[in-house]
Amino acid sequence: DSRLESISSAIRVIPDFPKPGIMFQDITTLLLDTKAFKDTIDLFVERYRDKNISVVAGIEARGFIFGPPIALAIGAKFVPMRKPNKLPGEVISEEYSLEYGTDKMEMHVGAVQPGDRALIIDDLIATGGTLGAAIKLLERVGVHVVECACVIELPELKVQP
Ligand code: 5GP
Repeated sequence: DSRLESISSAIRVIPDFPKPGIMFQDITTLLLDTKAFKDTIDLFVERYRDKNISVVAGIEARGFIFGPPIALAIGAKFVPMRKPNKLPGEVISEEYSLEYGTDKMEMHVGAVQPGDRALIIDDLIATGGTLGAAIKLLERVGVHVVECACVIELPELKVQP
């Protein structure tokens, strides 16, 4: 698809952020390019509009940027998957491991129903640990995860099974 090249070149790479040795993929420059940002959303909408998706689950923080316009365009509800202690209502949570230590992801009880069909959105997949936790959280409450979609894949990192 000819749109992919301009999307890719609108993403800025910042070396040594947030730590030495990390090449940070910065999507904020993609948001400044109105055509590339719209093309990004359109590509997802074209792929998911006819897949009977009832929920778009966006992962904090950058899944909150790409998820809502996709949800609106395909007629699905939007559910935020948040870092711990951010959501005000009753939550269910899932712990997952990071390179060093663990983290937790939370979702409001009642935001999704058994039988919902979910698309999970984030900006980037590295090891897949974050998306794996989101899948588990949704499946625990009877949701069918149709697919996970990200703007960027780091090809040098293999996805966890
Ligand atoms: P994973 O769990 O797949 O190893 O890491 C993916 C998570 O880390 C995503 O939520 C993503 O936002 C964040 N992340 C890791 N590295 C980068 C990066 O270079 N750029 C951006 N934008 N996000 C990153």
